Amino acid sequence: MTTDVSVDDVVDRRVLDRLADRVVATPRAERIEVIAPFTGRAFAEIPLSTVDDVRTAADAARDAAHGWAARPVTERARIIGRIHDLVLDRQSEIADLVQAESGKARRDAFEEIADVALAARYTAARGPSAVRDRRRLGLIPGLTRALEIRRPKGVVGVISPWNYPLTLAISDCLPAFVAGNAVVHKPDSRTTLTALLARSIAVEAGLPEEVWQIVAGDGETVGTAVVDHADYVSFTGSTRAGRKIAARLGERLVGASLELGGKNAMVVLDDADVDRAAESAVRACFSNAGQLCVSVERIYVASALHEAFVSRFLDRVRDLRLGASFDYSSDMGTLMSQAQVDKVTAHVQDAVTKGATVLAGGQPRPDLGPWFHEPTVLEGVRPGMLAADDETFGPVVAVQAVSTEDDAVELANATPYGLNASVWTGDHRRGVAVARRLHAGIVNVNEGYAAAWGSHDLPIGGLGASGLGRRHGREGILRYTETQAVAVQRLHGITPPPGLTYDTFADVMTRSLRAMRKIGRP
Ligand code: NAD
Repeated sequence: MTTDVSVDDVVDRRVLDRLADRVVATPRAERIEVIAPFTGRAFAEIPLSTVDDVRTAADAARDAAHGWAARPVTERARIIGRIHDLVLDRQSEIADLVQAESGKARRDAFEEIADVALAARYTAARGPSAVRDRRRLGLIPGLTRALEIRRPKGVVGVISPWNYPLTLAISDCLPAFVAGNAVVHKPDSRTTLTALLARSIAVEAGLPEEVWQIVAGDGETVGTAVVDHADYVSFTGSTRAGRKIAARLGERLVGASLELGGKNAMVVLDDADVDRAAESAVRACFSNAGQLCVSVERIYVASALHEAFVSRFLDRVRDLRLGASFDYSSDMGTLMSQAQVDKVTAHVQDAVTKGATVLAGGQPRPDLGPWFHEPTVLEGVRPGMLAADDETFGPVVAVQAVSTEDDAVELANATPYGLNASVWTGDHRRGVAVARRLHAGIVNVNEGYAAAWGSHDLPIGGLGASGLGRRHGREGILRYTETQAVAVQRLHGITPPPGLTYDTFADVMTRSLRAMRKIGRP
C-alpha cells in the first residue's frame, strides 16, 4: 500500500488559475472549490457559468463555426494530428492533473492519455475521407449525377462525466472538430480543469479558441442550457440523465449520441485459458477502481473451471496495491467521492444481508484517504440484490458458476443494460458466435474491455438502457454531420420527352426497370 500523496507538489496553482479563467463566466461569477479525492481537500477553484453564459458561449461558437467549417478538412485534420503529439509530449503534466482531480491511479491516467492519442491519430487520418463528398448511384445512369454531401451540424454540445476526465472530454470533441463543428462543452464540475487543460493544448496545436467553449456547472441547469443551444449533443453519463436529455431534445427534433451506464458481464467458457482469464478479469473489474462504464461487474464461469478461476482471481485481487501516488507504484486509486463510497457500501451490505458472501475486500479504507475502498469480490449474488440489478460503478464484482454456455448467455443478458461484455474461450469462432447472442453493443473476446475500446476504427456504444448512437469509427465522425442529397439532372428531366405519350413513356420505363434488375443494378 502506498500513501505518498502530495497534490500541491504536482499542481501549480497559478497555472490552474489561468486555466480556470478560460471558463465562459462573468468576472463576478460564483466560484467552487476543486477537491482532490486523494485527500478530500480543495486544491483549486473554478468559476461557475450561468444559463446566460451558456448562451454567450453558444453564440460565440456559432460565429466561429462558419470560419472553421470553411477551412479545408485536411487543415483541420493537421491540427488534430498536432494534438496527438502534444498530448504525448506533455503526458506527465496532464496525468498529474487527471490524478489530482479524479484520484485515479497513474496507470489509469496513462490509459486516458494513450486513448486520446489513439482517438486523435484515427480522427486526423480518417476524418477527411469520412466527410468527403461521395458519388452515389443516380436515377438514370449517365444522366443523373447523385452526390452525398456531409455538412457539419454547427454547434455540438458535449457533456462529459468525471470518471475519465481527459479522454471523455476531448475524444468526443475531435471528430466534431474534424467535421467542421464548434463545440460548447460542459465537463463534470469536479473535473473541469482537466478539460480546460485539454482545450489549452488543442489551442496550442492550432484550434481557434472560439471553436471550443467550456462552461462549468451542474447538469440540471448548465447542462440543460447546453442541450437547449446545441444542434447535436454528445452525452456521456448516467442512464437517468441520458433519458432526460433525449426527452428534451425530442421536443426540438435534435439528435444525440448517448453513452450511458452498464452492468457488464464476463463469460468464461469451459475451454478458456483460466490463467489469462483470471489475470485479465482483475483489470476488467478494477481499472479506475471500477468507475468505468465498460467495467465488468458480473463474472459467469463454466463449472469445470470455476474453482481454479476463483482461486487465481482472488490471489491477484488480494495483491492489488491501493494508494494515492503520483507514480506507477499503485494499481488502484480512490473512489471519487463520499457518494461513491456510500453506493459501493450499500451494494456490498445489501448483498451480504441477503445471503451473499464476500470472498475478497468488502471494506472502505479511510486509512489511505477519505474515499478509498477495497477491490471486492462477492459470491452468491442473486436477482433482487442491488449488486445484481443496478450498476455499482465501483470496485465490486460478483462471481458465479454456470453449467452450460446457454445458461451463461441467459444470465449475461438478464439486464436492461447492453454496453460491454467479455467472452473467454480457446476457440475464437466460438467466441464470436457467443458474442452474436449477447445483448451488448461491445463484446471483447479474450479481453476485458480495452481491445474493442482501443480499436478506434470500430464504432462502439450501448444497446437498451446503455444508450443510443456510436462513438469511434466512421460512424463516430458522421454523427456530427448532416447528410445533404444533391442530384444533378443532365440533358432532359424525369418526364416523357416531347412527342411521347404517357402510355409509351410508361411502357419504355417498365422495360428499362426490368432490364436494370436483370443486369443487377441496385
Ligand atoms: P451523470 O449523468 O450524473 O453526469 C454526467 C454529466 O452529465 C455531468 O457533466 C453532469 O453534470 C451532466 N448532467 C447530469 N444531469 C444532466 C441533465 N439533466 N442535463 C444535462 N447534463 C446533465 O453521470 P455520473 O454519475 O457523474 O457518471 C457516471 C455514469 O456515467 C455511470 O452510469 C457510467 O456508466 C456512465 N458512463 C458511461 C460511459 C459510456 O461510454 N457509456 C462512459 C463513462 C461513464
